[in-house]
Amino acid sequence: MVKVDICDMTIPELEEYIEKIGEKKFHAKQIFKWLHREKVDSFDEMTDISKSLREKLKEKAYILKLSVIECQTSKKDGTMKFLIALDDKAAIESVLMQYHHGNTICISTQVGCRMGCKFCASTKDGFERSLKASEIEGQIRTVEKYTNKKISNVVYMGIGEPLDNFDNVVRSIKIINEPLGLGIGARHISVSTCGIVPKIYELAKENIQCTLSISLHATTDEKRKEIMPIANKYSIEELLTACKEYIKLTGRRISFEYALIADKNDTYEDALSLAKLLKGMIAHVNLIPVNEIKNGVYKKTNKEAVNRFMKNLNDLGIVTTIRRELGSDIDAACGQLRKKYIEGKK
Ligand code: SAH
Repeated sequence: MVKVDICDMTIPELEEYIEKIGEKKFHAKQIFKWLHREKVDSFDEMTDISKSLREKLKEKAYILKLSVIECQTSKKDGTMKFLIALDDKAAIESVLMQYHHGNTICISTQVGCRMGCKFCASTKDGFERSLKASEIEGQIRTVEKYTNKKISNVVYMGIGEPLDNFDNVVRSIKIINEPLGLGIGARHISVSTCGIVPKIYELAKENIQCTLSISLHATTDEKRKEIMPIANKYSIEELLTACKEYIKLTGRRISFEYALIADKNDTYEDALSLAKLLKGMIAHVNLIPVNEIKNGVYKKTNKEAVNRFMKNLNDLGIVTTIRRELGSDIDAACGQLRKKYIEGKK
C-alpha cells in the first residue's frame, strides 16, 4: 500500500482524510499541531492520541522528513544557507537571513527551474520536478528545528518559479499560515515571480494577503526578452495590467525586483523609463546588483551607479531600496550551492 504524505494536507484536507479512515474529525487538528508546530518525526510522539489511532496512521501515512546535507554560515552576517535533500535524493536550497526585525527564510518551490533567465544559476541545469506543499513548508520546519530559531518571514525566492507550481504553492501558504502550525501570517510572506501573467490573476482571486514580488529587471520588452525568456510570452504591459488587478483585489502593494546589470539596464534612461512604467501604482522597487554566477556573462553595476539609480528613482517619486547583500561569502545567490553539489556528483 502506498502511504500518504500527511504533512501535505491543510486542516480541511486532513479532516476529510481522518473521517475517510473512520476516525473522528477533531483528531485532525491535534495531528496537524503535532506535525507542523511540534515538528515531531514519528506518530508515537503524538501523546494525546490513542495508541490504536497512532498504529492506524503508521500503517497508512508517513511524516515527511527532509535532511540537511550541508549548511554554510556567513562569517560576515550570520546568513545560513542550507542544502536540503528530499525523499528522492533531489537537492534544494533554503537560506536563513537574520534581520533586526526577525528571521526570514528564502525557500525553493521546484527542483531546478524551466524559466531560463539568463542571469540565474537555478535554471542552468534545467528542471527536474515541482515540490509538493509538504516539501515547501518542510523547509521551514527543517530549518527551525536545525537552528532552534523561530522564523517570522518567508520569501518564495529560492530555486524554482512559484507560479509554475501554483497549486502546491498556494496549499503551502495555507499550511504555513495556519495558527495551529507555524502560524506565519500571509502579510509576512512574499511570493516572487518572473511574471506568469494568468497565474497572477489566479493568485489575486485566491485573495491571500501575501506580498507579490515581480522580477521585472528591464523596462522594455526588447531588453527583457534578452534576459528573460518569459518576456516572449507576456509583454510588460500585460504584466503590469495583471499587477494592477492584484493590487485592486488584494489591496496589497507590489514589490518590483530589478537586478542591475552593468551596461544592460542601469542608465538614467532606464531609471526614467522604470519610473514611467510604475507611476501611480502602489509599488516599491528593490534593486539588486546582479550576483555574478559561475560562467555567467553579466557583470554587476558598481556601487556608485547603484546608489545613483536608486536616487534617480526616489527623485522621480518611486519608493526604492537596495537589497542588502547578505551571505556574499557563501554562495548565497540562489541555485549556486545546488549547482556545485550536482557538478560534484557528476
Ligand atoms: N522564479 C522566481 C523566484 C526565484 S528568483 C522569480 O523569478 O521571481 C528570486 C529573485 O532573484 C528574482 O527576482 C530573480 O530574478 C533574482 N535573481 C536570480 N538570479 C539572480 C542573480 N544572479 N542576481 C540577482 N538576482 C537574481
